[in-house]
Amino acid sequence: MNNDEPDIKRRGIMLVLSSPSGAGKTTLSRNLLEQENIDDPGKLELSVSATTRARRPSEIDGVHYHFLSKRQFESMRDRGDLLEWAEVHGNYYGTPREPVEKALGEGRDVLFDIDWQGTRQLLEKMRDDVVTIFVLPPSAQELKARLVRRAEDSDSVIAERLKNAAEEFLHWNEYDYILVNRDLDKSFARLRAILIAERLKRVKMPNLESFVGKLLADLKKITP
Ligand code: 5GP
Repeated sequence: MNNDEPDIKRRGIMLVLSSPSGAGKTTLSRNLLEQENIDDPGKLELSVSATTRARRPSEIDGVHYHFLSKRQFESMRDRGDLLEWAEVHGNYYGTPREPVEKALGEGRDVLFDIDWQGTRQLLEKMRDDVVTIFVLPPSAQELKARLVRRAEDSDSVIAERLKNAAEEFLHWNEYDYILVNRDLDKSFARLRAILIAERLKRVKMPNLESFVGKLLADLKKITP
C-alpha cells in the first residue's frame, strides 16, 4: 500500500538537507526535485529561503532565494513570518513560514537546504514532521576542490566557507541520516530511498484506520 491511495490523507514530510558548502547538497536537492517532478509532480517542493547575502550571477530572485535587505529580513523575522532563521557566513538566512505550513497541510513534502542552526529550530518546533539528512564530502581536499570549481565566489569567500565547514561538521550527529557523498549517483539513490521509506511510515498516514476498516468490510463481503 502506498500514498497513491486517494482516500488516505497524509501530512507532508519536512526533508532537511544540511552540509558544509561544497559537499554536494545543492546538486542532490536539485536532482531530487527534478526526479520527483517527473515521478510524482507536485508532491515535493523546495522551501525557498530568504537571505540577506548578495545574489550570485547564476541565481534568480524568488527561485533560489528571496533576496532581501537586512531591514526587510528583520521585519519579516520580527513579525514571526519565519519558521527558523540563522546567521551563516555573516548573512541572515531564514525559512518563510507560510508556504511550508500550506504545503504540509495539503499533504505535500517540503525540501529544506538549511544549516544546523535552522535544523535545530525546526526539530524543536515540529519534530514529528522533520526528517534530517547530513551530507558529508568524501575528504577535505574534495570539499575544497568543489568550492574552487564552483568559482562563483571570491577567494576570501571560499576561505571563509572552509573555515565554517569545520563548525558545520561538528553537528553531523544531530541528524537522522548521513550521506557520504563519494559518488553522486549513489548518494542520489540513497537520498530517494530515504524519502520513499519516510513516506511509507505508518504515522504519516492518519486515515489508515478507515482504509483498513474498509478493506476488512470488503473482505467480509467477498468471503464465502
Ligand atoms: P549559500 O550562501 O551557499 O547559498 O548557503 C550558505 C548556508 O546557508 C548553507 O549551509 C545553507 O544550507 C544555509 N541556508 C540556506 N538557507 C537557509 C535558511 O533558510 N535557514 C538556515 N538556517 N540556513 C540556510
